[in-house]
Amino acid sequence: MSKGLVLILSGASSVGKGDIREALLNDPDMKLFYSISETTRPQRPDEVDGKDYYFVSHNEFAESVKKHELLEYTEFNGYYYGTPKPQIDFLINKGKNVLIEVEAQGVGPIKLNIPEAVAFFVMPESFEQLEKQVSERYKDDEASIQRRLNKAKMDMEIAPLFKHVVSNADTEAAVAEIKRVFMERLEQRK
Ligand code: 5GP
Repeated sequence: MSKGLVLILSGASSVGKGDIREALLNDPDMKLFYSISETTRPQRPDEVDGKDYYFVSHNEFAESVKKHELLEYTEFNGYYYGTPKPQIDFLINKGKNVLIEVEAQGVGPIKLNIPEAVAFFVMPESFEQLEKQVSERYKDDEASIQRRLNKAKMDMEIAPLFKHVVSNADTEAAVAEIKRVFMERLEQRK
Protein backbone atom coordinates (compact mmCIF):
# COMPACT_ATOMS: atom_id res chain seq x y z
CA MET A 1 0.00 0.00 0.00
CA SER A 2 1.42 3.41 -0.92
CA LYS A 3 1.60 6.18 1.66
CA GLY A 4 -1.06 8.90 1.73
CA LEU A 5 -0.30 12.28 0.18
CA VAL A 6 -0.28 15.52 2.19
CA LEU A 7 -2.01 18.67 0.93
CA ILE A 8 -0.92 21.90 2.63
CA LEU A 9 -3.40 24.77 2.48
CA SER A 10 -1.91 28.12 3.38
CA GLY A 11 -2.67 31.81 3.00
CA ALA A 12 -3.34 34.89 5.08
CA SER A 13 -5.76 34.84 8.02
CA SER A 14 -9.42 35.47 6.97
CA VAL A 15 -8.60 34.95 3.32
CA GLY A 16 -11.29 32.26 3.10
CA LYS A 17 -9.16 29.15 3.62
CA GLY A 18 -11.98 27.70 5.71
CA ASP A 19 -14.49 27.51 2.83
CA ILE A 20 -11.89 26.04 0.48
CA ARG A 21 -10.85 23.53 3.15
CA GLU A 22 -14.44 22.38 3.75
CA ALA A 23 -15.07 21.93 0.02
CA LEU A 24 -11.89 19.85 -0.36
CA LEU A 25 -12.63 17.71 2.72
CA ASN A 26 -16.17 17.06 1.46
CA ASP A 27 -15.01 15.96 -1.98
CA PRO A 28 -15.11 12.13 -1.96
CA ASP A 29 -12.60 11.88 -4.85
CA MET A 30 -9.86 13.46 -2.78
CA LYS A 31 -10.24 11.12 0.24
CA LEU A 32 -8.77 13.75 2.55
CA PHE A 33 -8.56 13.61 6.34
CA TYR A 34 -8.08 16.82 8.29
CA SER A 35 -4.99 17.32 10.44
CA ILE A 36 -6.32 18.85 13.66
CA SER A 37 -3.89 21.40 15.09
CA GLU A 38 -3.20 22.11 18.74
CA THR A 39 -3.73 25.69 19.84
CA THR A 40 -3.62 27.77 23.00
CA ARG A 41 -6.15 30.19 21.45
CA PRO A 42 -9.50 30.28 23.29
CA GLN A 43 -12.26 28.23 21.68
CA ARG A 44 -14.84 30.25 19.70
CA PRO A 45 -18.55 29.52 20.30
CA ASP A 46 -18.96 27.78 16.92
CA GLU A 47 -15.89 25.57 17.33
CA VAL A 48 -15.70 21.98 18.54
CA ASP A 49 -12.72 20.73 20.57
CA GLY A 50 -11.14 17.75 18.80
CA LYS A 51 -12.71 18.68 15.46
CA ASP A 52 -11.61 22.25 14.65
CA TYR A 53 -8.62 22.26 17.00
CA TYR A 54 -7.35 20.60 20.15
CA PHE A 55 -7.69 23.50 22.56
CA VAL A 56 -4.85 23.12 25.07
CA SER A 57 -3.23 25.07 27.89
CA HIS A 58 0.21 26.67 27.57
CA ASN A 59 1.66 23.87 29.68
CA GLU A 60 0.12 21.16 27.53
CA PHE A 61 1.42 22.89 24.40
CA ALA A 62 4.91 23.19 25.90
CA GLU A 63 4.78 19.49 26.75
CA SER A 64 4.01 18.62 23.09
CA VAL A 65 6.97 20.75 21.98
CA LYS A 66 9.25 19.11 24.54
CA LYS A 67 8.23 15.63 23.40
CA HIS A 68 8.87 16.61 19.73
CA GLU A 69 5.28 15.79 18.91
CA LEU A 70 4.76 18.80 16.64
CA LEU A 71 5.82 18.81 13.02
CA GLU A 72 5.97 22.61 13.24
CA TYR A 73 4.56 25.29 15.46
CA THR A 74 4.20 29.03 15.47
CA GLU A 75 3.02 31.94 17.54
CA PHE A 76 0.20 33.89 15.92
CA ASN A 77 -1.66 36.85 17.40
CA GLY A 78 -0.46 35.98 20.90
CA TYR A 79 -1.34 32.27 20.78
CA TYR A 80 0.48 29.10 19.80
CA TYR A 81 -0.57 26.80 16.98
CA GLY A 82 1.10 23.49 16.08
CA THR A 83 0.70 20.53 13.77
CA PRO A 84 0.73 17.20 15.66
CA LYS A 85 3.07 14.74 13.98
CA PRO A 86 1.77 11.40 15.36
CA GLN A 87 -1.71 11.72 13.83
CA ILE A 88 -0.27 12.65 10.42
CA ASP A 89 2.19 9.73 10.47
CA PHE A 90 -0.65 7.40 11.50
CA LEU A 91 -2.90 8.54 8.66
CA ILE A 92 -0.33 8.63 5.84
CA ASN A 93 1.06 5.25 6.89
CA LYS A 94 -2.47 3.88 6.47
CA GLY A 95 -2.56 5.30 2.94
CA LYS A 96 -4.89 8.21 3.84
CA ASN A 97 -4.44 11.64 2.28
CA VAL A 98 -4.15 14.46 4.81
CA LEU A 99 -5.03 18.15 4.58
CA ILE A 100 -2.95 20.47 6.79
CA GLU A 101 -4.01 24.12 7.12
CA VAL A 102 -1.27 26.45 8.31
CA GLU A 103 -0.18 30.06 8.06
CA ALA A 104 2.64 30.62 5.57
CA GLN A 105 5.61 30.15 7.95
CA GLY A 106 4.41 26.66 8.81
CA VAL A 107 4.83 25.40 5.27
CA GLY A 108 8.66 25.20 5.17
CA PRO A 109 9.10 22.87 8.15
CA ILE A 110 6.33 20.59 6.87
CA LYS A 111 7.92 20.39 3.43
CA LEU A 112 11.29 19.59 5.06
CA ASN A 113 9.72 16.66 6.89
CA ILE A 114 7.39 15.57 4.09
CA PRO A 115 9.02 16.73 0.82
CA GLU A 116 6.27 15.10 -1.22
CA ALA A 117 3.58 17.35 0.30
CA VAL A 118 1.80 19.60 -2.20
CA ALA A 119 1.42 23.18 -0.93
CA PHE A 120 -1.10 25.79 -2.06
CA PHE A 121 -1.23 29.46 -1.13
CA VAL A 122 -4.60 31.23 -1.15
CA MET A 123 -4.22 34.85 -2.21
CA PRO A 124 -6.84 37.54 -1.50
CA GLU A 125 -8.35 39.39 -4.44
CA SER A 126 -6.60 42.51 -3.13
CA PHE A 127 -5.22 43.74 0.18
CA GLU A 128 -8.21 46.14 0.47
CA GLN A 129 -10.63 43.24 0.17
CA LEU A 130 -8.72 41.32 2.86
CA GLU A 131 -8.78 44.38 5.12
CA LYS A 132 -12.56 44.48 4.75
CA GLN A 133 -12.94 40.78 5.54
CA VAL A 134 -10.65 40.91 8.58
CA SER A 135 -12.37 44.04 9.90
CA GLU A 136 -15.80 42.42 9.58
CA ARG A 137 -14.69 39.21 11.26
CA TYR A 138 -12.85 40.77 14.21
CA LYS A 139 -14.86 43.99 14.48
CA ASP A 140 -14.63 44.29 18.26
CA ASP A 141 -10.90 43.90 18.47
CA GLU A 142 -8.90 46.61 16.67
CA ALA A 143 -5.54 45.30 17.98
CA SER A 144 -6.29 41.83 16.62
CA ILE A 145 -7.30 43.31 13.24
CA GLN A 146 -3.98 45.15 12.98
CA ARG A 147 -1.92 42.12 14.03
CA ARG A 148 -3.72 39.89 11.52
CA LEU A 149 -3.28 42.43 8.71
CA ASN A 150 0.42 42.87 9.46
CA LYS A 151 0.86 39.12 9.41
CA ALA A 152 -1.14 38.88 6.17
CA LYS A 153 1.21 41.40 4.54
CA MET A 154 4.22 39.30 5.55
CA ASP A 155 2.53 36.12 4.33
CA MET A 156 1.72 37.69 0.98
CA GLU A 157 5.41 38.51 0.53
CA ILE A 158 6.21 34.80 0.83
CA ALA A 159 3.51 33.87 -1.70
CA PRO A 160 5.79 34.02 -4.79
CA LEU A 161 7.82 31.15 -3.29
CA PHE A 162 4.82 28.89 -3.69
CA LYS A 163 4.51 26.92 -6.89
CA HIS A 164 0.74 26.83 -6.60
CA VAL A 165 -1.04 30.10 -5.84
CA VAL A 166 -4.84 30.31 -6.10
CA SER A 167 -7.07 33.36 -5.73
CA ASN A 168 -9.96 33.47 -3.28
CA ALA A 169 -11.91 35.68 -5.72
CA ASP A 170 -13.77 32.58 -6.88
CA THR A 171 -13.87 29.81 -4.26
CA GLU A 172 -15.21 27.22 -6.70
CA ALA A 173 -12.43 27.91 -9.20
CA ALA A 174 -9.81 27.76 -6.42
CA VAL A 175 -11.15 24.40 -5.20
CA ALA A 176 -11.22 23.03 -8.76
CA GLU A 177 -7.61 24.10 -9.39
CA ILE A 178 -6.36 22.57 -6.12
CA LYS A 179 -8.22 19.36 -6.91
CA ARG A 180 -6.79 19.20 -10.43
CA VAL A 181 -3.17 19.56 -9.22
CA PHE A 182 -3.60 17.16 -6.28
CA MET A 183 -5.34 14.45 -8.33
CA GLU A 184 -2.66 14.76 -11.01
CA ARG A 185 0.03 14.25 -8.37
CA LEU A 186 -1.78 11.21 -6.99
CA GLU A 187 -2.01 9.78 -10.48
CA GLN A 188 1.73 10.35 -11.10
CA ARG A 189 2.63 8.32 -7.98
CA LYS A 190 0.81 5.20 -9.16
P1 5GP B 1 -7.37 31.07 13.60
O1 5GP B 1 -7.07 31.64 14.94
O2 5GP B 1 -8.02 32.09 12.69
O3 5GP B 1 -8.13 29.76 13.67
O4 5GP B 1 -5.97 30.68 12.90
C1 5GP B 1 -4.98 31.65 12.74
C2 5GP B 1 -3.98 31.20 11.69
O5 5GP B 1 -3.23 30.08 12.20
C3 5GP B 1 -4.62 30.74 10.38
O6 5GP B 1 -3.89 31.33 9.31
C4 5GP B 1 -4.42 29.23 10.40
O7 5GP B 1 -4.29 28.70 9.10
C5 5GP B 1 -3.12 29.10 11.16
N1 5GP B 1 -2.93 27.78 11.78
C6 5GP B 1 -3.85 26.93 12.27
N2 5GP B 1 -3.27 25.82 12.75
C7 5GP B 1 -1.94 25.97 12.55
C8 5GP B 1 -0.79 25.14 12.82
O8 5GP B 1 -0.88 24.04 13.34
N3 5GP B 1 0.41 25.65 12.48
C9 5GP B 1 0.56 26.86 11.89
N4 5GP B 1 1.79 27.25 11.56
N5 5GP B 1 -0.49 27.67 11.61
C10 5GP B 1 -1.72 27.22 11.94
